[in-house]
Amino acid sequence: MAYKTINPYTNEVEKEFPNATDEELEAVLAKAHQLYLDWRNDSESLEDRKAILHRVADILRERRTEYATIMSHDMGKLIGEAEGEVDLCADICDYYADKADEFLKPRTLETDAGKAYYIKQSTGVLVAVEPWNFPFYQIARVFAPNFIIGNPMILKDASNCPASAQAFADAVLEAGAPEGSLNNMFISYDQVAKAIADKRVSGVCLTGSERGGMSVAAEAGKNLKKTTMELGGNDAFIILDDADWDLVKEVAPQARLYNAGQVCTSSKRFIVMADKYDEFLEVLKDAFSAVRMGDPTDRTTTLAPLNSKSAKEKLEKQVELAVENGAKVYYGNEKVDLPGQFFMPTILTDITPDNPIFDQEMFGPVASVYKVNSEEEAITLANNSSYGLGNTVFGEPEHAARVAAKIETGMSWINSGWASLPELPFGGVKNSGYGRELSELGFNAFVNEHLVFEP
Ligand code: NDP
Repeated sequence: MAYKTINPYTNEVEKEFPNATDEELEAVLAKAHQLYLDWRNDSESLEDRKAILHRVADILRERRTEYATIMSHDMGKLIGEAEGEVDLCADICDYYADKADEFLKPRTLETDAGKAYYIKQSTGVLVAVEPWNFPFYQIARVFAPNFIIGNPMILKDASNCPASAQAFADAVLEAGAPEGSLNNMFISYDQVAKAIADKRVSGVCLTGSERGGMSVAAEAGKNLKKTTMELGGNDAFIILDDADWDLVKEVAPQARLYNAGQVCTSSKRFIVMADKYDEFLEVLKDAFSAVRMGDPTDRTTTLAPLNSKSAKEKLEKQVELAVENGAKVYYGNEKVDLPGQFFMPTILTDITPDNPIFDQEMFGPVASVYKVNSEEEAITLANNSSYGLGNTVFGEPEHAARVAAKIETGMSWINSGWASLPELPFGGVKNSGYGRELSELGFNAFVNEHLVFEP
């Protein structure tokens, strides 16, 4: 059985989940497709879906600690961070329920040739392939808009987060959603490919690694199915000459360590002017050495284990590779004397562009710090990446915004760490993927913008 809750704090296998059979997949595809047709033929059903989505939000808020604990057992997240994630998911559900009428209303098109407008219609069943780092949020941000639109969803979640995925899907059912609305399935990669190829499926959204994204996008491409891809990042955190230093000190460590560093938009490359470089390293070191590792469900713990044994091994190898190729360990990279999958917060310096790690995402509490002599050098370095997800710029606000506009990413945060809100689009360029989730842009990802024209 591939789907298992292996608690990364205790290393115990807590629960195993049997894989679905092909017959079960077929039954779910049929049910979801029928629901798509029913919704499409019943314009009144939108009102029901809005009310149900608000109820999902209520259920999430009522049981935030219960859901947070499930996530923590699946992948090790700190309980407080997990509760914040549940709250954000409730906000996402409320947001799309509240915005449904506005986002779905027909749009008039300017033309001298006649009367023209387009309506937004559902497109069919979607396949959502989602990762383990935000077990609820990753589902909420694709499920909520598509539930409003009337696109049922087959969810293939990460094999190490089965309990979280099932809990989210159960909450949706409990809120009154018809069966077939969100179908969490414990399926293999081959079954994902089979579902993508199925005529009843109209699109695929994935969040995860480049490797996973390439495989799933290739399956979708072969079958002419629309996709959105939210992949990794190697986000720069640029500190300009006129940055508010107190703010930098407060924000920088958490921008790297939140969720044990396992966030696509975590700040991973800190780019600092030469005159502040030594001081910045000390700031980061002080914060990194002050973390308290331990039980993620204990509210006094400040750094959680990584999500799995393989994640820890991968990060260990990456740091080793960095050092073999000339990087220096300024702080950390020592064995942690705890049974779980803990990784000591680590600071690397002297990473040159020919170091293989220069262009790799490190998914854990490892900060790479770079010294630069000018703003131009900072921008060039930030853009010297295969990734283009987000970036953060600290400086006088207008100055920082001018610099941010020169960075090849999908998102920039000025004088703040990375953040996600229901009303703000999320997504990247280059190898960080394409398409947007959240906001109206995310809502439009899988709608049919159907033109109606009368000369
Ligand atoms: P993966 O891309 O392997 O996993 C993400 C999801 O995709 C999981 O549900 C996984 O299933 C599924 N998946 C992967 N390959 C396929 C495939 N060929 N067909 C169908 N489904 C597939 O990421 P990992 O969990 O292995 O993480 C590795 C790296 O990915 C991280 O170190 C990080 O760099 C990046 N990542 C980025 C995230 C982000 O938020 N952008 C989130 C998570 C990871 P299964 O679990 O069964 O393998």
